Amino acid sequence: MIESMDDIELTDKYWDCECEKDYIHLHLQESCPVCKAESEDQPDSRVPEVIKNGFVMFGEETAETKAKRLALAWLKNNLNIDEWASLNDEFDLNVYMDDNGNKRVTVFSAVNGETDLESSIEVL
Ligand SMILES: [Zn+2]
Repeated sequence: MIESMDDIELTDKYWDCECEKDYIHLHLQESCPVCKAESEDQPDSRVPEVIKNGFVMFGEETAETKAKRLALAWLKNNLNIDEWASLNDEFDLNVYMDDNGNKRVTVFSAVNGETDLESSIEVL
């Protein structure tokens, strides 16, 4: 979910640790193995920084992290997305406003050219 505060857009899907470099972490990662910062004590990441820098992944890449990485790479080159976009043969990307007026960016698997709406992965 993207939250707008004044001119700043924050996402609760990522958080910043105390490192000078590679400080953006996926929310599922509870702490940074380098600076030892804990996600619950740290601020949410800024959306433009997540899109610019991607995220830091320690451990194995899963289908889900791969989809998120792909979506961020795509967003970097396509800032003005209108609702739906096809990332590749495997994934579709959707941007929408939820009932609370917060912007969300979600990826879905595409199977034989059809979007599988059950397979949502929230990116931002
Ligand atoms: Zn760190």
